[in-house]
Amino acid sequence: MISIQDKIIVAENCEEYKPKVYIFSANITALSQGCNTCINYVNDKCSRKLFEEIEKKIKTN
Ligand code: SF4
Repeated sequence: MISIQDKIIVAENCEEYKPKVYIFSANITALSQGCNTCINYVNDKCSRKLFEEIEKKIKTN
């Protein structure tokens, strides 16, 4: 199980991040939910296979 913190960090660093819903309120950002709110996140996995790649880059930096 991937932690919410990891999903947030990955989503913040992901160029392919696309929120599933348009968020109207400035107080609630979709990004604060990380990959969970990304259209490419399906069945608890990144359908574009970017998650591991980005996570690796972050952890080596
Ligand atoms: S689900 Fe995939 S494409 Fe979406 S933000 Fe996460 S790593 Fe990027």
